[in-house]
Amino acid sequence: MVLAGKPLQASSVSKLYEKYTLIGFRNKKTRSIGVIANDSNHAQAQALDISRALGLERFTLDYKQKSVKDPVSKLFCDLAYNNFSHSVCYEWRGSYTNNSPVLYAFGARLYLRNLILDYMDIRKDSVVKTKCNNKECVNPYHFLYKTDKASKLTGGDKRILLAFRSQGASVSQIAKALNVHRSTVYRNLNEHLHAGP
Ligand SMILES: [Zn+2]
Repeated sequence: MVLAGKPLQASSVSKLYEKYTLIGFRNKKTRSIGVIANDSNHAQAQALDISRALGLERFTLDYKQKSVKDPVSKLFCDLAYNNFSHSVCYEWRGSYTNNSPVLYAFGARLYLRNLILDYMDIRKDSVVKTKCNNKECVNPYHFLYKTDKASKLTGGDKRILLAFRSQGASVSQIAKALNVHRSTVYRNLNEHLHAGP
């Protein structure tokens, strides 16, 4: 009789997150940003979103740990993992111009709310206001859009829902953030599916 050895359970000790450093290039300037991801595909997807948000000319993504405690890295990390709540404001810890949250990077001034909508690839109007009236708030769920009265979710909520979904947020996460039932999220996802491109 042969006793087979138990294989090592490698998957049970795998890390929860991988850490990367994105170096962005624009206007002959660079900036490094810490990225937390589930895996390399997730990191690459985030890098493209960050690149679009910051208007980068190019970037490199290194498998190398960098802190994500600075406001910019933290913001992108929170966007990637949908760390926003419908009920709590997300106050920007960076710079302000005329009471608007901004980021000075690559010798340019970037308005935070527009930057966030670019990250999520949502078409934006020139000025994004918030329904919470908190001048420091950059929580995308508090952004003010034209509302769609025929539905429980506003048009903006729907776009945010789809943007977060495309980044891999779970239905429960989206439902919690939008403060609706999971069935509402599923219904809106289905509507989008059947509406076609
Ligand atoms: Zn707010």
